[in-house]
Amino acid sequence: MNLEQLASYIRDIPDFPKPGIIFKDITPLLRDPEAMAAACELLAEPFRDSGVTAVAAIESRGFIFGSVVAQHLGAGFVPIRKPNKLPYTRRRHEYVLEYGSDALEIHDDALTADDRVLVVDDLLATGGTVGAATHLIRGFDATLVGIATVIELEFLGGRQKLDGVTVHSILRY
Ligand code: AMP
Repeated sequence: MNLEQLASYIRDIPDFPKPGIIFKDITPLLRDPEAMAAACELLAEPFRDSGVTAVAAIESRGFIFGSVVAQHLGAGFVPIRKPNKLPYTRRRHEYVLEYGSDALEIHDDALTADDRVLVVDDLLATGGTVGAATHLIRGFDATLVGIATVIELEFLGGRQKLDGVTVHSILRY
């Protein structure tokens, strides 16, 4: 499956969840086993020889891709979740949004300094969400191997905010 074919499984929903936003709906891609398999293989491909020990994915759409990518790379899966969802002792990082703030959490024993971590999410927009995940990972002194997303909204400049971390996206808009 080429990139043009893969892109045909992403549906634009104008004015969702609020006016002016064009929401990239991945559910047609999830519904098609070949498209989903191609997306997950393309996410993992550049990192096959990177010694990744853990894939850290962000709730909730990041989980869908992250667990498959972890299996491709022979790595463990680490959930990064919205506040108060994880049951064990947690670390939290709060980050500023355009209006207000949000936070992500990770289990205290999720990683060690020996880990080599790949962050996976569905979409890179302003980079705030993925940036918060990388902050949590750095708190363990783990090695951040890179960030992999299915979609990148290049015009929002998220990549530039991620301090030179390797960013791999499959479909760029
Ligand atoms: P950001 O923190 O701005 O990089 O936003 C990234 C997160 O918000 C991702 O986890 C996406 O799931 C979601 N998101 C942001 N913009 C969009 C969009 N246009 N379409 C779909 N999801 C989006």
